[in-house]
Amino acid sequence: MKSIDTINGIALHYARLPQHPYGTRGIQRTFKIEEHFLEALEAALEEVFDHCPLGKPDVITTAGILVDKPGQHGHGKAFDLDAIFWQDQTLITQNFLHDKELYLGIESFLRKHFGIVLNHFYPNHQDHWHVDQSVNVDYHESSKSETLYLQMVLKYIYGKPVIIDGVSGPQTRGFTKEVFNRLNINTPITTKVNYLKFLDLTGKIAFELSKETVTPKQLLENLEAVVDNLPLDNRHQVSQALNSFLDHNETASWLGGIDHEHDLDEIIDSIIS
Ligand SMILES: [Zn+2]
Repeated sequence: MKSIDTINGIALHYARLPQHPYGTRGIQRTFKIEEHFLEALEAALEEVFDHCPLGKPDVITTAGILVDKPGQHGHGKAFDLDAIFWQDQTLITQNFLHDKELYLGIESFLRKHFGIVLNHFYPNHQDHWHVDQSVNVDYHESSKSETLYLQMVLKYIYGKPVIIDGVSGPQTRGFTKEVFNRLNINTPITTKVNYLKFLDLTGKIAFELSKETVTPKQLLENLEAVVDNLPLDNRHQVSQALNSFLDHNETASWLGGIDHEHDLDEIIDSIIS
């Protein structure tokens, strides 16, 4: 075991109640971590922030590394990442729906290093990523966490209208094939070299998309994504109200006048060429 309070020069902080609310920078702490896992984490974060358009952050908040519970945390071989703080920007994992491109860019590169990555849509992981190396990096259709990631990037990066439920079926397979063809990657996704290529290109494309200025239309998409993820009881009423607003003549003509299509095709061409 090693004790660390920084990683790759990034300060490691703790921000959980009672003293330090989640989503703040919290306070720097020393964490115990297993040595080989630390090397893997360093390599992963180096690759993430080499590609990330925001560069190396000042602070990462973690809910814990060595934690007295069963599984990889009990051996100091798992990391929970709550939030990332740059000088003037923040990624709080709980706010995934407002920072989808940046979030999925980071996750794509994390997945090149960790066989287990549990994200925002995985049960009990709404407010942090859990990463560990207890299994190899590859894609299995039966894996809920891997399929959630795949469906999230199909929908939020590549614009495919897939249902995000963590269960692979004909729809997920069909859209995956379309995207692999567009990216010039061999199928199937279950072959490791193809999957790694997909993670790498998707990370780069997501980061490129994250650089574009936020437009009212993207904010509206965020709102629609939030509504889609409400509990069923509330969703219907809110989405009816939202739709009446959007269908109103004046709203429609205002929105129609705003120029925005992030040019996914142009970005894909520039990355794969
Ligand atoms: Zn964890």
